[in-house]
Amino acid sequence: MKKLKGIPAAPGAVLGKAFLYAENEVPELAKYTVAPKARNAERKRLAAAIDAASAELRSLKARSEAGAGAGAGYSAILGAQLLMLDDPEFQAAVLTRFEETGFNMEWVVYDTVRGIMSRMAASTLPAFRERAADIHDVARRIIRALLGQKPCSLEGLDEDVIVVARDILPSELFSMQRSRVKAIVTEQGGATSHAAIIAKAFGIPAVLGAQGAASAIAAGDPLAVDADAGTVLVRPSAKALAAFREVLREAKRRAAGGSKALRKLPAETKDGMTVTLEANIGVPSDAARALDAGAEGIGLYRSEFLFIRPGAVPSEDEQTAAYRAVLEAMQGRPVTIRTLDAGGDKVLPEFENDADEKNPLLGWRAIRFSLARPAIFKTQLRALLRASVAGNLRILFPLVSGIEELEQALALLDEARAECRAKRQRVSGSIDIGVMIEVPSAALAADVLAGRADFFSIGTNDLVQYTLAVDRGNSRVGALAQPCHPGILRLLKMTVDAAHAKGIRAAMCGELAGDPAYTGLLLGLGIDSFSMDAQAIPRVKAMVRSLRAEDCRALAACALAGRGWQENAALLRAWARKHERPAAARGRRPGKGSAPAPRA
Ligand code: PEP
Ligand code: MG
Repeated sequence: MKKLKGIPAAPGAVLGKAFLYAENEVPELAKYTVAPKARNAERKRLAAAIDAASAELRSLKARSEAGAGAGAGYSAILGAQLLMLDDPEFQAAVLTRFEETGFNMEWVVYDTVRGIMSRMAASTLPAFRERAADIHDVARRIIRALLGQKPCSLEGLDEDVIVVARDILPSELFSMQRSRVKAIVTEQGGATSHAAIIAKAFGIPAVLGAQGAASAIAAGDPLAVDADAGTVLVRPSAKALAAFREVLREAKRRAAGGSKALRKLPAETKDGMTVTLEANIGVPSDAARALDAGAEGIGLYRSEFLFIRPGAVPSEDEQTAAYRAVLEAMQGRPVTIRTLDAGGDKVLPEFENDADEKNPLLGWRAIRFSLARPAIFKTQLRALLRASVAGNLRILFPLVSGIEELEQALALLDEARAECRAKRQRVSGSIDIGVMIEVPSAALAADVLAGRADFFSIGTNDLVQYTLAVDRGNSRVGALAQPCHPGILRLLKMTVDAAHAKGIRAAMCGELAGDPAYTGLLLGLGIDSFSMDAQAIPRVKAMVRSLRAEDCRALAACALAGRGWQENAALLRAWARKHERPAAARGRRPGKGSAPAPRA
């Protein structure tokens, strides 16, 4: 038995079987000379591998056309890959390289494709550059077949698995067969990485940043994943398994508990201060889960998840339908839809090759991408405006760093509104416009931004990342991402004060909003509205109801004057001990929690 430790990223506990996922990696290749008398057999090996890869692509395409996996747009890509695979010129190029070098076929395929890819990448034609990823995918399938390895895909799983990977992309999580994935274990990623956020939204337990997982775990290994504690037992002993059964029971109890009794009660402190609790969602169907948990609205709909899929950018009509679906499901409650936050780790397949950046998190992301691609942005804005008549819409702009970006976005929104009117499309007259505060410059200039916005929504995942210079997806520096750092608290305070001075709301939609260990501090700082994954709502509500606003303000004043995050973490722990917290609000087993801080 081996025990791995990682970051508890999405709650739950599961027993299951490991599925090693390495979709984007080309297997390690040996390079050797094939004896002349074995060359004919080597050519036959290539033909058989091409047949196997072709069968694999055909079956994925058929599944996709039947509506499974990533959806219809994906089948066009698979069709293009099939054409490449069957292209006689491609096959001739591989065979020519084989005659020239005499090396083994895996190496020859890899070498040929590398040459083709570099010519494609250098092309001035964007369509040609975009095909480079497809040819890489085709090569990977042929090489796997040559090595006798099974195809590695999360789309066509035929049994329940625990996915183990070095890293996993948001797009891969969206295309996986969700019902079969019981847990996720990765070596990379942090508590606020997008993989963690999506796993949480899907209700799939996840332990991220578990160093050495991909090498310590073999395919089919039994695993016991405790995603509340962030541990993974590999090939657990009989004794460990017996103890783990209790962990499973407790996780089940916690998942079921609390929400029903609390649903109808307000999120009100003992001394009568009320805050709003809303839900973060990634797909329209999550709205039902939000309502079930007692959400008073949607505080963040990450619209980019509609775009991160193989195939073309969604059309205006398709987007209108998705936004309408959420507005209708929420029956008049406020719905905050954030415009496209593409880039960083959420690169749109269409723009994958354009976005070849050294520092993607500091690059072409979110509002910057939208302002640079006004056609895509205005299509989204028109879809939002058209959907607005179906409910109570708020539009939120991501990663705004200053007034110029906000004003450009507002100007494009005006243009989109005029375009809708010209087509006689109905648009609501009362749409609140919000700004995400997630770049330090936006917090520092919040007084200016507050003059042009109806509300702020603080994105602590990015605000912590950019203020403390800690990549939110890098497990090596994850322990430095401490939201109780006085630098962060001061930015939060500045933002809230600037909002209140101009009479607008200060909401928070970063992961911190759903952490009950921080609820008192955030209340004390003056946050008006908290938006979080639906399953966190009951615990945060229970916490709000156990506190006094007056005590929270005293705590915030103390923390703001703190010297460093360690001192503040100790302050928060002592405060939590002093203020009795309801069991439902703890959310972690006694003695195991990192609550309230420091964060793992
Ligand atoms: C944030 O940065 O806190 C946020 C809510 O946005 P995202 O996690 O999607 O980057
Ligand atoms: Mg963000």
